[in-house]
Amino acid sequence: MKAPPFDYVRASSLAQVFELLERHGDDARLLAGGQTLVATLNMRLSEPALLIDITALEPLRGITLAGGLLRIGALVTHAEIEASPLVARHAPLLTQAAPHIAHRAIRNLGTFGGSLAYADPSAEWPTCVRALDATLVLVSARGERRVAAADFFQGLYTTALKPGELLLACEIPLLAADEHQHFDELARRHGDYAITGLAARALRRAGRLHAVRLAFLGLEDRPVRAPRTEALLEGRVPDEALLAQASQLLRTELQPMADLTHSAETKRHLAAVLCQRALRRLAA
Ligand SMILES: Cc1cc2nc3c(=O)[nH]c(=O)nc-3n(C[C@H](O)[C@H](O)[C@H](O)COP(=O)(O)OP(=O)(O)OC[C@H]3O[C@@H](n4cnc5c(N)ncnc54)[C@H](O)[C@@H]3O)c2cc1C
Repeated sequence: MKAPPFDYVRASSLAQVFELLERHGDDARLLAGGQTLVATLNMRLSEPALLIDITALEPLRGITLAGGLLRIGALVTHAEIEASPLVARHAPLLTQAAPHIAHRAIRNLGTFGGSLAYADPSAEWPTCVRALDATLVLVSARGERRVAAADFFQGLYTTALKPGELLLACEIPLLAADEHQHFDELARRHGDYAITGLAARALRRAGRLHAVRLAFLGLEDRPVRAPRTEALLEGRVPDEALLAQASQLLRTELQPMADLTHSAETKRHLAAVLCQRALRRLAA
């Protein structure tokens, strides 16, 4: 199928984007890497009258250290994150997750901000930023505001972005000296959206785990944490007995939604397998 007709503007400033969003409201859509939006247009799942191409906007670019945080601009591509030494050093979870996103051609064009704004519950970046306790920087004609990742993802393809706002960047706390991060997922074929995946991190002190974060993708309508299992692990040595206890608790805590090919029970089982693997890596 072909996309319906639409007007196209390549914006040269944020002010121009705000003005166009104000004038066209819901009839306008922002275009970043186009790797999701163009497919939805071609399938006629979306019929905007105007596409506002934001790819020329410098304030949305770059990976930098600022104010003790790693700042990743919304227009940074998946491939740029995969190759970034700054990301590898300060947020290795993202470096580990990037190769799981689709295929190289899509990673070369698709953007961090586009993925976060689209909020697919099976996507890698929303779950990673949830595990990393990151903050999303949103901007509109009214100025900037910051929203914690925990509050940003509000449901299936639904975020805290308000009309007239766009995602400017994401700010990520730097990896601590005794912190370990681990990402893994299970997919039918490499490059497919995952059945489920886990972004995990913890501090490891004298063999004990602290501040454990377990964020799963592909289970519910948004990235989900497992706070009861995280609490069970707090300050404990992750020996085989604790891993078995954690696995059992996790199975009761997660409430996965079945999809066309996998039952809720299969997803629950796979999530527990990923959790065991992650805890062994975090403890090693
Ligand atoms: C075959 C295929 C396989 C894929 N597999 C995966 C996968 O395994 N994992 C995965 O995570 N993704 C996957 N994707 C999606 C891909 O990662 C997209 O790049 C990403 O979801 C959207 O980024 P984009 O820059 O292409 O955004 P676009 O397609 O340009 O935009 C997506 C949406 O976000 C909005 N938007 C974009 N930027 C902003 C912004 N700065 N502020 C506010 N709103 C904004 C747009 O208006 C639009 O609604 C796949 C895509 C394809 C085509």
